[in-house]
Amino acid sequence: MKQRRYKSTLTRNYAIAAFGMFGIVIISIIFLVFRLNLYSAGTGEEKTPKIEAKDIFTEDYSNMNTQYLESIGGWVEILDDQYKVIFTKGSKKDNITQYDKNDLINSFEKKVNPKGTAYNSVYAFKGKDGRDYLCIVKFPSLSEQVNEALKPHIDLNFNRKDPVDRLIITALAESALLLLFMTILFFILFSKITSKTVTKPLTYIRDGLDRMTKGDLNTRIDFNSHYEFTEIKDSFNYMVERLQNSEREREEAEKSKKRMIMDISHDLKTPITSITGYSKALCEGMVEDEESKKKYLSYIYDKSIRMTKLIEDLFRFSKMEDSEFKLNRQPSDIVEFLREIIASNYGEIEAKEIELDIDLPQEEIIYSFDKIELDRALTNIITNMIKYNPKGTEAFIELVKENSIKIKIGDKGVGMSKDLEASVFDAFVRGESARKTDGGTGLGLAISKKIVELHGGKIHLETEEGKGSIFTIELPL
Ligand code: ADP
Repeated sequence: MKQRRYKSTLTRNYAIAAFGMFGIVIISIIFLVFRLNLYSAGTGEEKTPKIEAKDIFTEDYSNMNTQYLESIGGWVEILDDQYKVIFTKGSKKDNITQYDKNDLINSFEKKVNPKGTAYNSVYAFKGKDGRDYLCIVKFPSLSEQVNEALKPHIDLNFNRKDPVDRLIITALAESALLLLFMTILFFILFSKITSKTVTKPLTYIRDGLDRMTKGDLNTRIDFNSHYEFTEIKDSFNYMVERLQNSEREREEAEKSKKRMIMDISHDLKTPITSITGYSKALCEGMVEDEESKKKYLSYIYDKSIRMTKLIEDLFRFSKMEDSEFKLNRQPSDIVEFLREIIASNYGEIEAKEIELDIDLPQEEIIYSFDKIELDRALTNIITNMIKYNPKGTEAFIELVKENSIKIKIGDKGVGMSKDLEASVFDAFVRGESARKTDGGTGLGLAISKKIVELHGGKIHLETEEGKGSIFTIELPL
């Protein structure tokens, strides 16, 4: 999956923010328009309920629709042709039961009743009895009428002189508040969501670093994020893995150093104890006859030889472990070289009656190698073959040149256990027989392996207990 770069996410976020703001402004404008419409609808002429007498009047007085009129404090009166009040609907706020004709006419002209408190509207009609009647709509006062009329539509007791300006200011203020509120809400939510794309991976990285600094080298971080953060994640995991590997190597090196020191002390202690014991016996005159003296001295000699061999091997091995150690490689015929090694060991091979099959190419193969060291490596393997196998064991040595030079040294002898096979190239690893006879130092194959590796090659062992062993040395051309 191709990962998105953080830069493109930022661009996308800016675009979303711009569109979001645009939307909020549009919503606020729609709100403003809606509010203004609502106010004008509340004060608009056609929406104003009818309060004129001619509109309210119905022949059946008791069914006249005076609901709105009453709600704004007005009432209806029906007067007979003598201007006497014969019917009232709504709560009458004056106590006039009989009008004076002139007063009545006057009040209609000035739109003010005789006591100067009510607005009147009149409708004249003929009753069923053929007489004249009047229907009068009355309000306590004009100001009260206007106030009451507007009450259901707005909650503000605004100045009656200029209500429209007030309405616009209110609507504008409401829209501005809405705009502000929506902007704040939008940016809080938006920054919360967008910041997650940064904070989430950073939290993972910080936690990983925390765990790592506390020494947990098994720490690995895993998250899906932008290309840049994924790069950091991969580098972090790689770094921890490297650190873990070098830590493991350091621990292993430390362990093997400790084990080596223990092995060396053990291997030196055994012959030294014997030498001390024998020499003490000789010094204190505890051995009297010449035969025994000779035997003791020869024990001391053998043990000294073994110690010398151990110290020599140890010295050689540690020299090779040193990164400063360099081979002295010279081009030479490696076939002839192997032939000479076999020849120099032939005496022992014959003595052990080993049936050796040698298969070497006729032609020479010129190869650059360190004669002394490779001789040591191959001799170790050949002498092991002679030393650890019974008389008459079948064995073979062959050299082939393919993509590399392969030298095989094999036998159909005792073979090795699985445990021994796995660790035989490690220093101080010896098989049962070697331990029992106190023969080997356990450093031979470790040295051989080191030499082959210094030549850029590999050493490989195939072995099975009771069936034999084959060592293959592969040297690159
Ligand atoms: P050393 O010979 O000093 O004990 P090496 O590293 O040379 O140490 O060999 C390690 C062990 O491998 C020996 O102790 C022996 O048990 C086993 N070994 C090596 N070569 C053979 C072989 N050809 N057949 C059987 N065992 C072998």
